[in-house]
Amino acid sequence: MSLSLYILGAGGSYPPPGYAGPSLLVEAPDYRLLLDCGDSCAARLEEAGFDPCDVDAVYVSHRHADHWSGLVQLLSSRGARGCPRLEVIAHRNVAVELLRLLEPLVPGNAEVSPRILGDEEPLRPGVLEASLFRVRHQVPTYGVSIREGGEGLLAYTADTAYDEGLAESLRGHLVVVADSTLPPSGESERAAMFHMSVRQAWRLAVEHAGADSVVAFHLSPESLEYARRSRLPGLLVPGEGLKMTL
Ligand SMILES: [Zn+2]
Repeated sequence: MSLSLYILGAGGSYPPPGYAGPSLLVEAPDYRLLLDCGDSCAARLEEAGFDPCDVDAVYVSHRHADHWSGLVQLLSSRGARGCPRLEVIAHRNVAVELLRLLEPLVPGNAEVSPRILGDEEPLRPGVLEASLFRVRHQVPTYGVSIREGGEGLLAYTADTAYDEGLAESLRGHLVVVADSTLPPSGESERAAMFHMSVRQAWRLAVEHAGADSVVAFHLSPESLEYARRSRLPGLLVPGEGLKMTL
């Protein structure tokens, strides 16, 4: 199976100029999955050459609005084009609150079909070999591991603090897309309880988990500036619209 990864938005809750909110499109044969759908994800999807109806499902890592606010636009454009119901996937510790927040915002002409996962439950049996792992954030949050034949292709940390215990979940993946919100000066502040710096993301993914590459993700203007200056081996600093084939 060849898997394509499109970085639709690599920005965090206040993205750098020109960046959209956090959103990754994973394209497998006959299946397209969005990992989070931050602000402007519908527009970025079309800029990458996809129709809103092309998305089969959206996985939402946690209830913070910057990870799903783009769903409102995506559902509107799907409703206008008569796309089928959109499957919205979340862990059960995330889903109840997420659906409560989302329900009043779903446009009248669109429908969602929730898929609520328990611990150890695969994300989409038979289509993608994908599973969730808990990370360390302010609210219940789950990263995603995508494998093929036991080989790790892609791991997405979603929002997380630095925790060497996560290396087990990230180990052996070709690419890790990792929270890189904080500038180096933020590593010792309160924010470091909930997010990582570029340096911490690199240390966790490359040094501890042995990934070939780490994509700096959920960037702030400050962390993007640091990431562009740093010369860490294996660190990828995405421009918007970056496509990778795994
Ligand atoms: Zn968050």
